[in-house]
Amino acid sequence: MDKRQCKRCCVVKALEDFKGTNKYCERCLEKEKEKYQKNRKEKKERWQKYYRNNKTEILEKGKEYNKEYRQLEVFCDFCQCKVKKCRWSKHLQTEKHKHNETVKNDEEEKVNKMTDEEKDEYYKIKKLKQIWKTVWLRR
Ligand SMILES: [Zn+2]
Ligand SMILES: [Zn+2]
Repeated sequence: MDKRQCKRCCVVKALEDFKGTNKYCERCLEKEKEKYQKNRKEKKERWQKYYRNNKTEILEKGKEYNKEYRQLEVFCDFCQCKVKKCRWSKHLQTEKHKHNETVKNDEEEKVNKMTDEEKDEYYKIKKLKQIWKTVWLRR
């Protein structure tokens, strides 16, 4: 008859005392489950108690976190601008962004079809345009 040793109580028992490929026998499995549930309950109660005693502080921290989160910025590659993280999904919906995204995608498609020489030329002109733009804007 096939037997297996339980990893918890270390007793060698018949296979029917185990559920499937479990390393623990059924009795030990039940005990482990109880322990886990008790632990979870205790953890929850501890947190609730902590929350009750430190409510203002916890809420204050939450507000601070929200404030910091609202100030985080992401850089949009399409629009070449910074966007507040909390407005990011809204930004993706704006006409400006959609337009810039199409332009950039079209541009990429165009560049992909170019020969290497054409690419070089294209980027050179683009760079010049950019330099011109920044110089012009600075005046
Ligand atoms: Zn056991
Ligand atoms: Zn954008």
